[in-house]
Amino acid sequence: MTKDFKSLALPGVQHLKPYQGGKPIEELERELGIKGAIKLASNENPLGLSPVARKAIEATLIDGARYPDGNGYYLKCKLAEKLDVSPNQLTLGNGSNDVLDLLARGFLDAEHNAIFSQHAFVVYQLAVTAQGAKSIIVPAKGWGHDLEAMANAIDEHTRLMFIANPNNPTGTWVDIEVVEALMKKVPWNIIVVIDEAYFEYADMAGYDSALSLMDQYPNLVVTRTFSKAYGLASLRVGYAISHPDVADILNRIRQPFNINSMALAAALAVLDDQDYLDRSIDINRRGYQQLVSGFERLGLSFIPSAGNFIAVEIPGDTQAMYQRLLEQGVIVRPIGLYEMPNHLRVSIGLPEENQRFLDVLGGLLGFGESLDSGEAS
Ligand SMILES: *Cc1c(COP(=O)(O)O)cnc(C)c1O
Repeated sequence: MTKDFKSLALPGVQHLKPYQGGKPIEELERELGIKGAIKLASNENPLGLSPVARKAIEATLIDGARYPDGNGYYLKCKLAEKLDVSPNQLTLGNGSNDVLDLLARGFLDAEHNAIFSQHAFVVYQLAVTAQGAKSIIVPAKGWGHDLEAMANAIDEHTRLMFIANPNNPTGTWVDIEVVEALMKKVPWNIIVVIDEAYFEYADMAGYDSALSLMDQYPNLVVTRTFSKAYGLASLRVGYAISHPDVADILNRIRQPFNINSMALAAALAVLDDQDYLDRSIDINRRGYQQLVSGFERLGLSFIPSAGNFIAVEIPGDTQAMYQRLLEQGVIVRPIGLYEMPNHLRVSIGLPEENQRFLDVLGGLLGFGESLDSGEAS
């Protein structure tokens, strides 16, 4: 007799499609039998691990047989001071992904729905679906989140709203005034999560963190991560800033030791490494210009981005282009899953990585010469 274990799973879980990450460099090199592939596919920090973080991690190894500090005392104190909030407003997560999941677990069941935008970061849908809750996906406007339409989508079952600002994979952002206008319309019993994973990079006029609105709107939750501008993606540290009562809920359901000792130490150290952060932002700004100039020379349209990545539209068969880039050792990210089948998302890398991507892409599009000179042939 066949045993249908799938039918035993929770209804939400039965229909869940696992998250698809970027292809690891090692995997591509193994498949093609090549060396020197580059990965511009997961919005990772091209500077690599900060030496300050590395040192801090090494220092924790001596206590490697002990459990971590389950309360993340020092990291919370430092974050609280930096953000001018109280430590009891903080929830640490194994990446901010963990915190997003905790929000769904703490506040949603089959009775509820959560609102987010078309093209929004896919983790919202995964977290909501796993709870057996309903997703209300609001059509995007010019690729970006339409906060007015999102407010209009609220019904009596709505418990959560997720807004990625800036959003991944579109790179779009909303101004702080627009966030505030939304908060004015949302009743207190709907938790509004502003996911600021790319906050450190976003320098557009009108953009600001929603943190400044938290005193006025206690149903606001801001999430941040150490994975992007701070370069700790492998260590998994993120956090939520919220009303203390919301933090209390999240802290009840998190695993007791959800942040390991190395991650705690690295995050604490990198908060003091202003030089690393400055360099991250600087290399990103320059890489953005480099890629944008390249796209313009190749006649490609792209979505202006506030993050460390750009969604670029590929003429013809986008999936085939992704494959051909892979064959040349360049990993980017197809985003058909985000209802963007004609775009590829490319993370901003080191100058030489950006150039290699542009050269290979240009070649595949039929531009013969290197684009180094600024002239497309
Ligand atoms: C990368 C990303 C995150 C979280 O990443 P973690 O590594 O889990 O902290 C959250 N939100 C968005 C929009 C992201 O792109």
